[in-house]
Amino acid sequence: MTTLVWFRQDLRTGDNPAFHQAAMQGPVLPVFILEDPSQSGETHPLGRASRWWLHHSLAALKAAVPGLVLLRGSARHLIPHLAAKIGAKAVFWNRCYEPHAIERDSDIKSALTSSGVNARSFKASLLHEPWELQTGSGGPYKVYSPFWKAARQREVAAPLPAPGNVEIQAYDHGKVLDDLGLLPKRPNWAGGWERIWQPGEEGARKRLHTFLDEGLDGYSSLRDRPDLANVSRLSPHLHFGEISPRQVWHEVCERMAAEVRLADDGTKLLAEIAWREFSQHLLYDFPKLPEDNWRPAFDAYPWRESTEDLARWQQGQTGYPMVDAGMRELWQTGYMHNRVRMITASFLVKHLRLHWRHGEAWFRDTLVDADLANNSANWQWVAGSGADAAPYFRIFSPITQGRKFDPEGHYIRRWVPELRDLGTAHLFAPFEAPQDALQQAGVELDRNYPLPMVDHAKARQAALDGYEAVKRAG
Ligand code: FAD
Repeated sequence: MTTLVWFRQDLRTGDNPAFHQAAMQGPVLPVFILEDPSQSGETHPLGRASRWWLHHSLAALKAAVPGLVLLRGSARHLIPHLAAKIGAKAVFWNRCYEPHAIERDSDIKSALTSSGVNARSFKASLLHEPWELQTGSGGPYKVYSPFWKAARQREVAAPLPAPGNVEIQAYDHGKVLDDLGLLPKRPNWAGGWERIWQPGEEGARKRLHTFLDEGLDGYSSLRDRPDLANVSRLSPHLHFGEISPRQVWHEVCERMAAEVRLADDGTKLLAEIAWREFSQHLLYDFPKLPEDNWRPAFDAYPWRESTEDLARWQQGQTGYPMVDAGMRELWQTGYMHNRVRMITASFLVKHLRLHWRHGEAWFRDTLVDADLANNSANWQWVAGSGADAAPYFRIFSPITQGRKFDPEGHYIRRWVPELRDLGTAHLFAPFEAPQDALQQAGVELDRNYPLPMVDHAKARQAALDGYEAVKRAG
């Protein structure tokens, strides 16, 4: 009897419990459904960069699982319909944790069960389920350190191999990938991204191995340097489930065991995987995380509204080179280094006092790793309104941050080429540079590079003044 396997954010064959279990039972019909938000109830739809990634990830999965059926429409309707049509006695999938997915999946499970179909879901995207990792008194963790302390003591199950010789049931009524309309057309702003990224399981595996060979050594101290290659760039692969956190965990542990000097670096990487886990658990326990302040006192913050200022931030035209470099890296590659995400996000919410939701929406649209839990948890972390958040009054100076984390200015020169010839002493604050230094470097402020849109000291003070309202409300 055929088992329907519904692929979602688990676009891989290895360590895929739903696929593995189904393949052991007999013939499999693998299916992926592209849902429209109006049908799925999704409040935060896939962004454009994510759609580009998804197209290529599905192409890779289809190459690995040739019978993969692609459909478009409502999963609530299509899954029970397809199961009935092929006479499937079971439907398996791996769990997702976004609020709309939980609701949708439980509706589908009820519908299948009531028509006698065995509906089973599996743990595949997380190391530990939110209900498996709780505080001593039984509630969810709200602070990262004890969460990590508890998480690192738990055993992580060994990853499953990809199933061999899977018997795939033929089904001829799927769509061709291009008909899903995921790729940008005119203009094709993602031109060249194939050279930067290799979506899919093989690309994920290669990325992990390149990182383990070339980036892990020094990770704990160099992961804050956007000018260096000491981060893994695994985030889009993890988001789309082309690699599982269990696979990453075990490979890192093996490397640490083989090379003892990598113990600190490896542990730091595992701690970052645990941040991902912490965010997913937060979203599970606080489904309003993408919309509402986790700390309600922040409802009192006097946010500004300015579409013009938001656009300057989005376009990397703030006049602060470190901020502009990050925003342009994001636009041109679909990725931004974590340290620079913190700097650019802080600039939006504190220097410009624009709501973190504007930033969340822009990142969701432009990041290839856009992830509802990680994105909203991190935006709230930067804004001060989140769980275990950065204290609000610690306001990053984009100038000092640049000097500290891009000391030779390589990152800025790469993404803000109009400042390429400016000496490092002036690179982080060109508006403070003497006229002759600017002239020699061909920089004309307000002509080929903007003047700063706000004064750092004044903006900092205005942000702190705004925070008084939060203090009163809290
Ligand atoms: P590495 O340093 O190599 O880390 C390995 C993995 O650990 C990452 O792939 C990621 O899965 C996880 N991780 C690392 N840092 C964090 C973190 N702070 N929170 C949660 N998980 C983490 N990450 C996303 O995956 N999607 C997002 O939409 C997203 N939005 C963000 C928005 C803001 C404002 C900020 C400050 C951070 C955001 N992050 C997001 C977290 C982090 O910036 C990225 O996960 C990281 O930069 C990805 O690069 P990497 O894979 O090279 O990271």
